[in-house]
Amino acid sequence: RRQGTNATSSFALAAVRRPHGAALVDERGTLTWQDLQDRSAALAAGLIDVTGGPVETVAILCRNHRGFVDALIASSRLGASALLLNTGFSGPQLADVMEREGARVILYDEEFAGVVADARARVDGLVEVLGWTDAPATETSPLSIDGLIAAHAGQAPPRPASRGRVVLLTSGTTGTPKGARRSGGGADELAGMLEKIPWRGEETVVVAAPMFHAWGFGQLVIAATMTCTVVTRRRFDPEATLTLVDEHRASGLSVVPVMLERIMDLPVATLDRHPMRSLRFVSASGSRMRPQSVLAFMDRYGDLVHNSYNATEAGQISVAQPADLRHAPDTAGRPVRGTLLRVVDDGGRDVGPGVVGRILVRGASPFDGYTAGASKEFIDGYMVSGDVGRLDAEGRLYVVGRDDDMIVSGGENVYPIEVEKVIGAHPAVREVVVVGVDDEAFGQRLAAYVALTPGAAASSDDLKAHVKAQLAGYKVPREVVVLDALPRNASGKIMVRELPEAAS
Ligand code: ATP
Repeated sequence: RRQGTNATSSFALAAVRRPHGAALVDERGTLTWQDLQDRSAALAAGLIDVTGGPVETVAILCRNHRGFVDALIASSRLGASALLLNTGFSGPQLADVMEREGARVILYDEEFAGVVADARARVDGLVEVLGWTDAPATETSPLSIDGLIAAHAGQAPPRPASRGRVVLLTSGTTGTPKGARRSGGGADELAGMLEKIPWRGEETVVVAAPMFHAWGFGQLVIAATMTCTVVTRRRFDPEATLTLVDEHRASGLSVVPVMLERIMDLPVATLDRHPMRSLRFVSASGSRMRPQSVLAFMDRYGDLVHNSYNATEAGQISVAQPADLRHAPDTAGRPVRGTLLRVVDDGGRDVGPGVVGRILVRGASPFDGYTAGASKEFIDGYMVSGDVGRLDAEGRLYVVGRDDDMIVSGGENVYPIEVEKVIGAHPAVREVVVVGVDDEAFGQRLAAYVALTPGAAASSDDLKAHVKAQLAGYKVPREVVVLDALPRNASGKIMVRELPEAAS
């Protein structure tokens, strides 16, 4: 997805409105909006210096810190595309995406040096600039973001003919991550979001969601648009996040759902130490949230949780506000203004409340296609989201899963979520995912992967018996595999393709 002028121009505007206001707080301290302008101008000048000429694409492989933001704004100053890379990429995945997007410059945190080696082997003349390093500032490498900023302080590149864009990658849940382009819509999307989530201007938000991903990136841009102070850390730690909220008296916390779940997995005594009285809203997106965690969070901290349903291609689709989550903690809420939602059957006809079908979306900002190698299906001007779900009588959406999640076992259709809900309600289970495994006799059979609550015990047979007591026999997984944790990508999504093979 490419954001037009809106994404980075909001940083320039913020510097006009509040030059000395705190923009970003990371492990190294606080930067003002003007600091970000000065740093990104120097970095852009430095990038021209080291590449020797026009830069079309700047690949960024950084965690949440000042260097990420510097690189983002610098790309825009060069009229280049900022390609935001997933910090969970393997070497070959990174090299594939770099090749496909034609990127010849990469800014990366030192911890990813090993991952960048594959891209170096495949991209001729790759220019590499270090982002975060643990070296003391005095020993900063000249070919680093900080080094280039220091060497080019006070300089700025010539104004480019066009403002840069941002290419956001999908999560790669269903295959190779796709680069998605969308035109315009920034302002509409923001308005739609602000109607649902109570952000106010000039307040402090802790952004824990990764900024390379559509959701965390969007949170950063909203913060800039509203001149809010963004407090962030490179790595998510549940307790440290609570400490940040209290220390900075933050009014907002932006997460991916699994982060909220991790927070509510903390011992009660730990939670007791963090009252978070300043907090007015939590915004999450990217997947469903474990109902117990949403309710436990709201019982403790108040009705603050907002969960958005969005897709890189469509932007904000719907938001579940606290009242929606109180009503049904697994809902994805109602559409944001400007977005139209339909749930249809295989023939493309709208289905009634309660009936599961394919989710179609017409967003506030049109989708302009992928950068390469893939396409989205449209029906009557609506984008086929690839998700299946249902609406309730009041118009709330429930995302049931992906189109291709449905398991057909012995001719019976099973949506994994139904079985996941039952297993997930078992007190010993911390998280669960149910998938279909090829089976000679049944076509597919169900396999469940679970991670147990620390200190709790349950055997595979216990869990099978638990499902059997509540659901039809064909919905009982044939295998229940207990793992320490489910494999997740850097934006917190469960990577089904990385689960070990279930034994038959
Ligand atoms: P890929 O397109 O590469 O397979 P992806 O679809 O996971 O990856 P994203 O655009 O990052 O890429 O994620 C969008 C998807 O995430 C949605 O289509 C939906 O399946 C899921 N999702 C996002 N928000 C929610 C939510 N609140 N509830 C349930 N599912 C959600």
